[in-house]
Formats: sequence, structure tokens, C-alpha cells
Amino acid sequence: MPPLLRLVQQQGVIMSERKEGQSIEEIYADAVHWHVNTGGETIHAKRMGGRFRSLKWWTGSLWLLFFLSPYARWEGHQAILFDIPHRQFHFFSLTIWPQDIWMLSLVLILLAMTLFGVTAVAGRVWCGYFCFQTVWTDWFTWLEDKIEGNPIQRRKLDAAPWDARKIRLKLFKHSLWLLIAILTGVTFAGYFTDIYRLWVDYLTLQAPLVAWVVLAAFIFGTYVFAGFMREQVCFWLCPYARIQGVMVDKDTILPTYDAKRGEPRGKSRGGDEARGDCVDCKLCVAVCPTGVDIREGMQEGCITCGMCIDACDSVMEKVGRPKGLIRYMSEKEMLGERLPPLYRRPRVIVYSAIFLLSVSGILYGLTHIPPVELSVVHERQPLFMQMSDGSIQNKYTFKAVNKTPEDLRLRLSVSGVPGLQLLAADGDTVTLKSGKTIPFHVFLRARRTQLKQANTPVRFRLQGIDKPEISLEYESVFIGPSKA
Ligand code: SF4
Ligand code: SF4
Repeated sequence: MPPLLRLVQQQGVIMSERKEGQSIEEIYADAVHWHVNTGGETIHAKRMGGRFRSLKWWTGSLWLLFFLSPYARWEGHQAILFDIPHRQFHFFSLTIWPQDIWMLSLVLILLAMTLFGVTAVAGRVWCGYFCFQTVWTDWFTWLEDKIEGNPIQRRKLDAAPWDARKIRLKLFKHSLWLLIAILTGVTFAGYFTDIYRLWVDYLTLQAPLVAWVVLAAFIFGTYVFAGFMREQVCFWLCPYARIQGVMVDKDTILPTYDAKRGEPRGKSRGGDEARGDCVDCKLCVAVCPTGVDIREGMQEGCITCGMCIDACDSVMEKVGRPKGLIRYMSEKEMLGERLPPLYRRPRVIVYSAIFLLSVSGILYGLTHIPPVELSVVHERQPLFMQMSDGSIQNKYTFKAVNKTPEDLRLRLSVSGVPGLQLLAADGDTVTLKSGKTIPFHVFLRARRTQLKQANTPVRFRLQGIDKPEISLEYESVFIGPSKA
């Protein structure tokens, strides 16, 4: 059953006005007089205060961290840096290497589970309060409101012929939009290189081509998506908007119009007690950033921002009726049932369990990142060499990554075969440059009489000279001729 029809039946929105003999399909057809703006018109939403408006400001302002974080320094380097040339990710004193990239998968799972869980509980609150698209659009429309005036004035200005005033206002608005777009682009690029140097490079036109491409893409994306496409991005481009429907259920709380209380709607109650509380002022529609009339049921365009709740509450206050004609409410609550506690909701339990497993995995990974990553490969061609004195020699290639910020001196030793000789270019001392992977070769030589079998396990050990707490072991094999 289409969701709207279900809502129509549940809410009784149209049922209360059902005409004699009208079928449910006709009722449904009647109900579909709301429409989704598919780009043909610019929505000039009214801005007004309220609880959810304040909440949106607070949550949106978290994005200021995006703009400020790249400037933070930590132990002499940029605190948050995706250092692609050196294949490292710096997060304050933590350095993640490609070998630790498995943690990124867990971070992605964690983010996905957070999104799924939040959507199951409260619908598209991510869209309404945190998403960069809606937050940037909110900043852009706030500037538009300040520069060009309220929605009526903006529509008038749009329709007016081009004169000096219109040119001045539009120029000022678009300049500020472009400034935000440029800041967004430079900030994003600044997560991949030293941002102070990047600013200098941009300002002196010395930035590399890739930096210009990133900047151009972000200026274009921010300016067009937040300035012009606005809610159309949510409607046409956002994959989350497409799939969120499968994450919500009857327990999900969404902005809902209480049709039982509001209908039949009318301009004024005028002593008519049969009238509902909705005075049909349409303020809830006027403030909606996506142009939705929530009174017609939950719709695809709704980003659950709660602006209509603020608007309607202010109207209810003025007309002396209780607030909450539009409120966050689940389908079950709408039907008079109780909302079950979170711990009794299967979806929430599953999402939370996966979330906790991901967090545990990440914490384990972060607390067990070895200072040196070591791998030892036994030479295959040849497997061993018989020397002129009859001894057997094996060759190994060491790959050691020093993940610490300083160069490390390590002592190399080996055990497993009595009298085993270790031969390396620099004796038993190895110096590993910080952040570098430099392979080196090591030879082991054993007297044939000491080999009891063709394959003898050996254990390499690297011990820090200046930092004895660094100790690594690697098991390999010493190969000799078959005894047969
Ligand atoms: S209907 Fe209400 S909650 Fe939904 S997008 Fe519009 S204002 Fe926000
Ligand atoms: S703001 Fe409230 S009273 Fe006004 S039209 Fe919307 S639901 Fe009805």
C-alpha cells in the first residue's frame, strides 16, 4: 500500500471529509494534491525562531570545526592531515598507516550504523540537522534573507526588472556565497597538505594543478548545490534519501500533523466547536525548506528539520490552543499505541550491537598499533646455497616500517639453529628512518651438521637500542638440503 494512502487511512485526514460513496482510491487521489517541487520553482522559506530552529543552529555550527581543524598543530605538524604522498593519516599524536587501513573499514561501518540507528529512531534527523548540504543551504539562505529580505521581498526582487538596486543586492549575495564556497574548497584541500603553505600557494598562484582542480570542484559544488539546487540535491542526488525509507518503521518518530486534532481545518474556529485546531494559516508550509505541506502526511521531501513544528507551535500559542499540533510522533503513537523502549526494538538492538563491535575493534586497533611493522620474506630462488666450506646459506628480505616520529636503531638477532651466523650489510645494527619502508637483505649461514631437518624454524628478533621497550619478533624458516 502506498505510504500516503496508509497515512490517509491512519490519520483520517481525508476520511473525516469523505464524501458519500467515495472509494479509497478517490480519497487517495484527492489527498495527492501536495506536490514535490522538482526544480521548477525556487523555494523561499520563511525563517522564524523556535526550539528546533535553535537546535539546527547549534548542530549546524559543529561544521565550524571543519573550517578550523586544519589550522590546529600538534607536535610540530598539522594535527589532522591525510598525507597521501607519504601514505599516512595523522590525527594528533596518532599516525595511521596503510597497514592499519582495516580500521577505516570499521570506522565506515560505525558511521553507517550510527546513521541507520538514528534513522530508525528519529528518521532523517541527519538531513535536518547535520548534513553539509542542508547546513550550507541554511547558511546561504540566511545570507539571502539578510540581504534581499523576507520571502515576499525576495520574490518581488526576483520578479523585478534589473536596476541598480537589484544588481547591487544580487552581486553582494553572490559574492558572499562565492566566499563561503572558496573557504570550503581551500579548507577541504587543506586536509591533504599543510594548509598554511596551501594558502600561500593559492594566493601566489603557485599551487599544483590537483589543488586547483579540487578548489574549482568545491567552489562549483558548494555554490551550485547550496545556492541554487538546494532541496533538489536531497531529492535527486542524495542516495541516503533514496534508501532511508527501508530504515524507518512504525516506531520511528517523525514530524507528524495530528490530523485528529487539527481537522477539519479552517481559518477560524468562530465558535464552531466541530472545527479542528488547524487554522489553515499555512505557516508550516511557508517555513518548510523543502516546500512540504506536512498536513498531507509524511512525504519524501521532508528532511525532518522540525521547522514546521516551531511555526505551528507559535500559531497555537497565539490562538490559545495547546502546542504540538505538529510534533515528533511515531506511527504507533498516531494510532494510540505506546512507543516501545529502545532496548526492545530489534533494529536498534542490531544496529547498536554492530556499532559496539566496530567501536571495540577500532579501540583495539588504536591501542595495538605496533611502532614498527615487520615482515620477512625468505628468498625462493634459490632456496639455499651451499658454500665452499660446506655450510648452508639462506637469504631473507626484511621490510620494516618505522611508524614512530623518530629514526630508530635496532639490534637484529636470530635463534633456532645452534651456531647460526647472521650476515647483514651493517652487522647486527639496523637503522630505520622515521616513516620510511626501506627493504634490506639478511643472510643466515649454518653448518650442515647442525641441521636436523630440511626446514628448521628460526626466529628473528629486533630490539630497540635507544628504546629497549621496542621489541619485535618474526618467525621464519631456515632451509637446507634434504637428509634423504
Ligand atoms: S515538513 Fe516540516 S520537518 Fe519536514 S522538511 Fe518541512 S519543515 Fe522540515
Ligand atoms: S501552522 Fe499549524 S495551524 Fe497553521 S496551517 Fe500549519 S498546522 Fe495548521
